[in-house]
Amino acid sequence: MEFSENALVLKVGRFKEADMWVRFFTPTRGVLTAFAFGGCKSRRRFCGCLDALNQVRFRVKSNRAGTYLCLMEGSLLKTPAMLRQDTTRMGLMANCIKFVEAAFRGPDGANTIHGLLVDALDVLDGEQEVSNAFPMLFRAKMLCELGFGPNLQDCCVCGAKLDTVAAPQFLISEGRLTCGHCRGRSSGNSLSVSAGALKTLDFIRSRGPEQWRRLALDPPVRREFAEMVDSAITYHLGLNWDRGAFRRV
Ligand SMILES: [Zn+2]
Repeated sequence: MEFSENALVLKVGRFKEADMWVRFFTPTRGVLTAFAFGGCKSRRRFCGCLDALNQVRFRVKSNRAGTYLCLMEGSLLKTPAMLRQDTTRMGLMANCIKFVEAAFRGPDGANTIHGLLVDALDVLDGEQEVSNAFPMLFRAKMLCELGFGPNLQDCCVCGAKLDTVAAPQFLISEGRLTCGHCRGRSSGNSLSVSAGALKTLDFIRSRGPEQWRRLALDPPVRREFAEMVDSAITYHLGLNWDRGAFRRV
């Protein structure tokens, strides 16, 4: 098997003297890992390509038995202008990438998630202000892009419009929203979510990272929103953020 594809480099590592492994995200195949034999030395085949956060075009070939992939050559399409000099922003980007690696099974939806990653990279590499809530907003957006965003309009039990009811609740054991009345009939734990938290998720669902700076997040709304998003991620994807990594629960 052999193919050429555009890719965003997620991680690189060295092994042996001159060889490297490269993990990258492509719009049709999702996350792949391949070896670049001689990658540390071959400037001709990989000129400037083999660094995390580069956007590249790779020619990839599998070994004869089909058990691993090799990078044959690459050409650099785009590299971050400023991001690598900003450790805070590098941390925000790393957090987004960790979530993609943990949550994305693909290849279905790879094109959408590739676009989201590239958009996030563009924002973090740009000059506009970026909130430290960026990775949390990214998780919310990805949850929606994967089709797991909760119905924000209606109570999942009685169908009442959530923007007309008092005290909407997010049911942790069901990953859905109810009105306060129906929540009383459910036995599981729930989270209170204000209209502000619901509007925030609606905003993120319909807009890309380049518009997230327009979002003003009051601390209580931010907390409710984050709790709802992380509960939904645990419910739908079985992941919890724990000591710097997303772990299966
Ligand atoms: Zn209801």
